[in-house]
Amino acid sequence: MVHPPRHLADLDPAGRRAAVAALGEQPFRADQLSRHYFARYTDSPADMTDLPAELRETLAGQLLPQLLTSERELTCDQGATRKMLWRLHDGALVESVLMKYKDRVTMCVSSQAGCGMGCPFCATGQAGLTRNLSTAEIVAQVVAGERALRPGGRVSNIVFMGMGEPLANYKNVIAAVRRLSDPVPSGLGISQRSLTVSTVGLVPAIRRLTAEGLTVRLAVSLHAPDDEARDELVPVNRRWKVAEVLGAALDYAAATGRRVSIEYALIKDINDQPWRADLLGSLLAGHLAHVNLIPLNPTPGSKWTASRPGVQEEFVRRIADHGVAVTVRDTRGREIDGACGQLAATVTGRSVGPARRAGTPLLPLA
Ligand code: SAH
Ligand code: SF4
Repeated sequence: MVHPPRHLADLDPAGRRAAVAALGEQPFRADQLSRHYFARYTDSPADMTDLPAELRETLAGQLLPQLLTSERELTCDQGATRKMLWRLHDGALVESVLMKYKDRVTMCVSSQAGCGMGCPFCATGQAGLTRNLSTAEIVAQVVAGERALRPGGRVSNIVFMGMGEPLANYKNVIAAVRRLSDPVPSGLGISQRSLTVSTVGLVPAIRRLTAEGLTVRLAVSLHAPDDEARDELVPVNRRWKVAEVLGAALDYAAATGRRVSIEYALIKDINDQPWRADLLGSLLAGHLAHVNLIPLNPTPGSKWTASRPGVQEEFVRRIADHGVAVTVRDTRGREIDGACGQLAATVTGRSVGPARRAGTPLLPLA
């Protein structure tokens, strides 16, 4: 594995000053660079008019190397959804998606090139893991999103639901959370409460995250309430069972006071049976959790498909009948899905339960 070049966003403010000092320059230059990158989203020496001309190239070259090269960009939903495919310095490809809503802009970012968890319904899982992204490679996706929204727009929410398993790249992801949420110009100034870390259920890492004292939202990709189905759908379940995963997730919710999101891709005849809805509802009833159902986005060649609408509605109703909040994720960007199965379904759905009455027609919020 070739390590990506070091970047300002890999370092905390003290580390940045030390790096500038190591180049023989005044430490306050690091703060100027931070302002360019985190407040103005620029890494171009020509923009750095507050730095002596002869210093700009050196400092930018040393601390603001270009990490992402645009490989392709696709838009749909009348421009409201924009998918960006990036090439990294070593040729690896990752994706991010920008989704504009009336009241917010959500950005979905990748934490790894590929993923080693092998979930059989997931396009990323099929390809295996190429490598972890560096902290700065994660942050750079958001900076690119901020640039794309100018003038006027800002990224308001970030979900770690692109390629990769964030908690398998723990150190870099936690540092990225800090860079994204540190106040401008130390970081991008996006509230931790607006960040969602989605995990396949790596129990020790969830517990470590709980001890971190952050206020990010946690999403856990459960996909089945029983070990028999989950062992198949989420191979890592053979290591950490449903009960342990839910235990860790609910402890996180209790520690942070933040409702944990239980992600559940509905797959026809695989995990969409009424009894599974009831079991899931009973496991979560009375806890600080809500269920986010995702209509399966079939990967090329997959034998699995999404549940029929009637089956999905009944699944929702049964969970809601346990008094558990349940949403169906909007399927933004499905037609620009391309190679990465899960990026199509990256949005937190709107709440339809438990306030929702049984029998109300429920449509995917496409
Ligand atoms: N590795 C992390 C985060 C990235 S996946 C995780 O698994 O949670 C983001 C979400 O997309 C997860 O909930 C994942 O289960 C879901 N997903 C993956 N492939 C999908 C598909 N083909 N259809 C619907 N959802 C999918
Ligand atoms: Fe990895 Fe998440 Fe895909 Fe599973 S669903 S293979 S954990 S990216």
